[in-house]
Amino acid sequence: MTSTEPASQQVLSTLNQDGSRRQIRPQLSRGRFYRRRQVVGYALMALFTLIPYLRLHGKPLMLLDLPRREFTLFGTTFLPTDTVLLMLLLVSIVVTIFLLTALFGRVWCGWACPQTVYLELLYRPIERLFEGSPRQQRQLDRGLPSRRRLLKNLVFLLLSAFLAHTFLAYFVGVERLLQWVQRSPFEHPAAFLVMAATTALMFFDFAWFREQTCIVACPYGRLQSVLLDRQSMIVGYDPRRGEPRGKLVRRPANTPASEAVAGAPARGDCIDCRACVQTCPTGIDIRQGLQLECVGCTQCIDACDAIMARIGKPPGLIRYTSQDELAGRARRLLRPRVVIYPTLLALVVGLLVLALAQRRPADLTLLRGSGSPFTLLDRDLVSNQLRLKIVNRSDSARRYTIALLGAAGAQLVAPENPLAVAPGKTAATTAFVLAPRALFAAGPRRVRLRVSDGVGFVQELPYELLGPRAAAATAPGADR
Ligand code: SF4
Ligand code: SF4
Repeated sequence: MTSTEPASQQVLSTLNQDGSRRQIRPQLSRGRFYRRRQVVGYALMALFTLIPYLRLHGKPLMLLDLPRREFTLFGTTFLPTDTVLLMLLLVSIVVTIFLLTALFGRVWCGWACPQTVYLELLYRPIERLFEGSPRQQRQLDRGLPSRRRLLKNLVFLLLSAFLAHTFLAYFVGVERLLQWVQRSPFEHPAAFLVMAATTALMFFDFAWFREQTCIVACPYGRLQSVLLDRQSMIVGYDPRRGEPRGKLVRRPANTPASEAVAGAPARGDCIDCRACVQTCPTGIDIRQGLQLECVGCTQCIDACDAIMARIGKPPGLIRYTSQDELAGRARRLLRPRVVIYPTLLALVVGLLVLALAQRRPADLTLLRGSGSPFTLLDRDLVSNQLRLKIVNRSDSARRYTIALLGAAGAQLVAPENPLAVAPGKTAATTAFVLAPRALFAAGPRRVRLRVSDGVGFVQELPYELLGPRAAAATAPGADR
């Protein structure tokens, strides 16, 4: 918003007074923070591109297989049945975000979010290369489409296609992606449409929608007002030093910059040059205080530091600070949320590690078959039906052998024994235990089912066989 307008006429920084979109054409400020962001940003771009190709323990470092509801992170695969593990993982991510935001404000948005990294360090530099300075870009905005702009958009489109392929590799894996790329689109029309739509979305976002993603679409930005406290690190303007602002008064020659000019009104350090506003990619004026639109990109720090250097004032009129510090209050590192979040995080991560350590290479579920609890096949033979479900958590196909223990004279009849289960898959089978009626003379008979995969996994499951005498004491359907 612009403070010079009456409150009733103030609009968002990215809108014109009539409500139409105001394209922000920020002036690049090459300062110390920009140089650091370049190093971090280009390293992250390389990382974002490489992650789908990296493997750990023979698995992708990261693969989010949505159709199969399987997520592989750092060599660990979470299956659809891992609800508790996934919940703990999600909670730990959310608490980490809360903690980092409470401590460092929007450092993620300004330094590491792919939206900012690609827009500010890839698309905008290309735009400047083709279209020149912000002033020249605005001239192009007003004129007919030029060859330079068409060429720029062509490069944007190619870049968006590359990014879309990289992005999709996180969801389908590089192997499948390479197959799609090498074959005709007619062989995989759905995948091709997804790819085309993702490319179009990337192009729309980086070529036109831009800062609106952060201001309007991103839920993280909307949450800032509750995630930050007055001690959180923010990019802020120091009004105690900068105000009252005013245009620079020319000094007589040989007057040191620190000396007041005779007759000039007392001024703060802000010379109202608006360099901080012109460089802001979300178009805001940081001098109006902390705003939701600020993504913490530090461009205003670089712009203002350059101005301060030019007028002989120390840097830091706009700097990393906190709201309390700007108000003249002392920094307080210890505060409730800085204690609560790490405690919660340690608890959740501890539970997650514990749950991961206890995870077995297979999950077994043994249930009684539906229908009557047992069947009398003839006068002396009783049949119990059971259902066994096996989740193979290992990385290779396994064959699970099922054996009955603890019931002399009883026989296990299983049509699929051993039961083959593909890696990461679930399979279920029905089996029957045929036992002589005499086995139930003393009531239900406790037995064990032993399941082994022949390569190290063995688990025994208790099971209660029911027979004629047990039937008198146990109501059908209430046998477990
Ligand atoms: S760049 Fe610095 S001096 Fe210029 S308007 Fe912004 S805060 Fe004031
Ligand atoms: S106010 Fe400064 S830090 Fe915030 S988005 Fe604008 S330029 Fe970046």
